[in-house]
Amino acid sequence: MTPQISSVLLRKIMQEARGSPNAEICGLLRGRGAVIRSAESTANCAADPSGFFEIDPSRLIAAYRQARQPNGLELLGYFHSHPAGSPDPSPRDAEHAVADGRLWLIATHDTARMWRAVSNGAVHGRFDPVAFDIVTGKRVTRSVASVRLLGAQKRWSLEFDHFPD
Ligand SMILES: [Zn+2]
Repeated sequence: MTPQISSVLLRKIMQEARGSPNAEICGLLRGRGAVIRSAESTANCAADPSGFFEIDPSRLIAAYRQARQPNGLELLGYFHSHPAGSPDPSPRDAEHAVADGRLWLIATHDTARMWRAVSNGAVHGRFDPVAFDIVTGKRVTRSVASVRLLGAQKRWSLEFDHFPD
């Protein structure tokens, strides 16, 4: 199933990434099935947050607990930023990722891509690139490969690239 995220959530993550040029931001993607309904930032507990991220373990535990509630959102994945890098997973990301099929959204100061943590992935043996759908109001942009954040503070817009057919 193709993951789906709203442009509002994407813009929020990307603005946060852009606003933190010296430390990686991170958080949880939660939702139902393939639909991401929430992107909550958490503290970055890494010893060196300029080059890595570690989601606050207490927030992870809370997310697992919530997922077991009757109407709780599932933990669909994680987001983090690469302030000075590319939106591709680093070797260190691969080292720390569990091949559990969860989504990894990675944002730079202006670009974001989505990945899935799998065994035998195309990137560092751990990640496959994932096309995703973006919902803007009632419009759905399908099979997006990457998103760029354009413009200045009050006029952010998103530009989409698609995977070649
Ligand atoms: Zn990373």
